[in-house]
Amino acid sequence: MDINSNSLRIQNGLSCKDFQKQVDNVLIRHKSILDITTKLNEYTNRINRAVAKSVTSCGCIEIHATKQNYDKDSLMEIKDSMKSHIKGQLCPTCKEIIEEEIGTTLFYLASLCNVLNIDLSDAFMKEYNHIKTLGIFSLK
Ligand SMILES: [Zn+2]
Repeated sequence: MDINSNSLRIQNGLSCKDFQKQVDNVLIRHKSILDITTKLNEYTNRINRAVAKSVTSCGCIEIHATKQNYDKDSLMEIKDSMKSHIKGQLCPTCKEIIEEEIGTTLFYLASLCNVLNIDLSDAFMKEYNHIKTLGIFSLK
């Protein structure tokens, strides 16, 4: 990602603006803000469901969750000790399913930006600059 250009480039020839415009061209049935926000919520849940099915149906990943250890002297030490609790790697099938759900989520996120007249690349850039400025102190 070339984060320094005026329009955020995701891949050669594709920018956030291109994506947002294409989404606007094809969104017909769920044009209402109510449809968009509920679809966005639905697809966020579908990502969670796909991750869960990777664990419970496929088994390519496992989740071994334990309490996170915040008892450290610095934020860097805390950051380095944080665990994802994931054991294993997504298999190609599960990865593809999760990527599809993320893609549809991005579609509805871009749709939300379109109906609210928000430039998705501006949102990316603002968040990027925020986390870049605050660094580890952004505490996400
Ligand atoms: Zn799998």
